[in-house]
Amino acid sequence: MILSELGELGLIERLSSKLKQKLPDGVFGIGDDCAVIPVSQELSYLITTDALIEDIHFFKNKILPQDLGHKSLAVNLSDIAAMGGIPHSVFLTLSLPKDLDVYWIDKFFDGFQALASKHNTLLLGGDTTGSVNKIAISLTMIGYVHPQKIKFRSSAQLEDIICVTDFIGDSGAGLASILENQKETDDSVYLISRHFRPEPNIEKGVFLAGQHSVNAMMDVSDGVYSDIQRIMKASHCGVNIDMDRFPISDQLRRFSKKNNIDELEMAATGGEDYCLLFTVSRDGVDELAKLYFEKFKQPFYPIGEITSLNSGLVFMNNKKIVSLQKKIFNHF
Ligand code: ADP
Ligand code: MG
Repeated sequence: MILSELGELGLIERLSSKLKQKLPDGVFGIGDDCAVIPVSQELSYLITTDALIEDIHFFKNKILPQDLGHKSLAVNLSDIAAMGGIPHSVFLTLSLPKDLDVYWIDKFFDGFQALASKHNTLLLGGDTTGSVNKIAISLTMIGYVHPQKIKFRSSAQLEDIICVTDFIGDSGAGLASILENQKETDDSVYLISRHFRPEPNIEKGVFLAGQHSVNAMMDVSDGVYSDIQRIMKASHCGVNIDMDRFPISDQLRRFSKKNNIDELEMAATGGEDYCLLFTVSRDGVDELAKLYFEKFKQPFYPIGEITSLNSGLVFMNNKKIVSLQKKIFNHF
């Protein structure tokens, strides 16, 4: 069998099923946005790693180095936010071709540094190597959280309301506009900036993690369609998503109309939104919405509910069941 038959999730499952290790109490490994290492009754470390590879995650001639610096850090910060954590420090590994302009690296660092300072994240080390001809960036980030406040993918409860914290689909549309070399418009400039400069939701993650009514949480990296299946798998439940309730920005709405794109499909499968996806108990959702709005001056958006395991995965659009399987990105 070759890798493309197994797929990304299949490969991770295969690796974890081969593991012959028993995790000590309180330690969580493969399967969530971060690994968890307990330190004391009040403190657990969160650790996450993510790589950005040239021509897979970005095209060097399409993204400014300062945006790539921002994004490399943002995607890791987003995984810390997804567990309700506060970022502490980061390790940065760069594999670079030797003809790379040093100016490019300086600019990469400018973008990286600006976001690191904003989130009080310390660069404590890393590694630097040559590469044959492409850039590879890998970050490992450490954060911390109170052990009782960690929100896992595995704790969604039957009848929970599924919510997202922001508009979805913008980033996917931004990418589409870049790949098609479209002439820039005000809308595409906004969508592209959502693709290049995602804002990690640390404060929202900390707030949601502190709420008893919130049961499960993760960040949206591959799109709601793929990522909600990770909650399903971890929580052994079914999911009903009502695509008509997706929060869509005005820019995406106009862009989709102009380019003949289905904005709801883009929102489900575009990916790289880096907002938070969480489930909240039905009884607690109104109170949570009130507190959340008071704090952030913006709402979160209910998009569906947790159902029983045998109900499976259902995406509804305009009262019809839709299949989105073919639209998603798979590394292999
Ligand atoms: P995220 O998108 O939040 O980074 P994923 O859903 O892609 O997380 O990954 C699922 C889990 O698989 C994570 O816990 C991650 O640490 C783990 N994982 C991914 N690749 C590997 C690997 N090569 N070896 C061990 N664990 C891995
Ligand atoms: Mg994640």
